[in-house]
Amino acid sequence: VKKNGKNGYQFFSSVLNEQLQEKIEMEADLRKAIDEKQFILHYQPQIRTEDSQMIGVEALVRWKHPTKGMISPGLFIPLAEETGLIYSLGTYVLKEACRQMKEWHEEGGPLIPISVNLSSQQFHQSNLVQVINDILEKTGLAPQYLELEITESMMMDAEISGSILNDLKELGVRISLDDFGTGYSSLSYLKLLPIHKLKIDRSFIQDITSNTNDRAIVATIIAMAQHLHMDVVAEGIETREQLDILTENDCHKIQGYYFSKPLPAEEVEKAFFVPNRV
Ligand code: C2E
Ligand code: CA
Ligand code: CA
Ligand code: CA
Repeated sequence: VKKNGKNGYQFFSSVLNEQLQEKIEMEADLRKAIDEKQFILHYQPQIRTEDSQMIGVEALVRWKHPTKGMISPGLFIPLAEETGLIYSLGTYVLKEACRQMKEWHEEGGPLIPISVNLSSQQFHQSNLVQVINDILEKTGLAPQYLELEITESMMMDAEISGSILNDLKELGVRISLDDFGTGYSSLSYLKLLPIHKLKIDRSFIQDITSNTNDRAIVATIIAMAQHLHMDVVAEGIETREQLDILTENDCHKIQGYYFSKPLPAEEVEKAFFVPNRV
């Protein structure tokens, strides 16, 4: 055991070293990527099921790494948060998303909002309202067409989050609660805060056809959203069976692979815009 222990330790430590090395490399790459604009946005439609119309679209960032190919946000957003690079990356995403939606509006595309994810650090950024106001002014996008996606964990301190949300409300943007049901915060903030939409987390949808507990939770979230006069969108719908259960429970707004993966802007235009415009 002793002999193995030492080897085991050395192996473990070299794995750690490698991971650390990789992280340091990725951080340097990330810095460069922001300067060199290696990020692109994909857009995932939100669909109203009655008529299959696109009623919104979520911007999701991707990193086009020069040698490693496309890197998903699950890998680099945490690093961007850890290193403070999230501020410049987040501002870039907001700007690009608003620019794109304004362009779509001008090209005769549907008058729908664009949803943008905010990290917790961005949400607590002292000049957030100023940054967003500047972006709206520069891009010319009307504030009601920008929807900010935040999570329950940012609502922990109701007083602080309430004051940020009220400033954002005054600006005229919409607020959506992402990954709803997975946080640990109390429900009491829901009635206090200006929130327009709940997005039911994919983890409740995954097994909804077989798991009656998940089904009960989802039905309850939908009913609650209706009572509180909030929009409700189910995330991560992949199958017809999942869609049917949501429809039965009176949820008619869906985001998921069943309708569309996140797509580059041109593909959204091709697949979801009315074809007979110039
Ligand atoms: P999220 O905000 O919950 O975004 C939804 C994620 O679920 C996306 O992954 C999307 O591609 C994926 N998804 C959508 N429909 C389905 C489905 O039917 N099945 C499955 N299996 N997955 C589906 P993505 O693009 O990899 O993003 C992962 C997370 O990274 C996002 O989760 C969000 O938390 C974060 N993220 C993405 N873009 C940004 C950004 O610009 N800023 C910040 N702060 N975070 C971002
Ligand atoms: Ca989101
Ligand atoms: Ca989500
Ligand atoms: Ca275009």
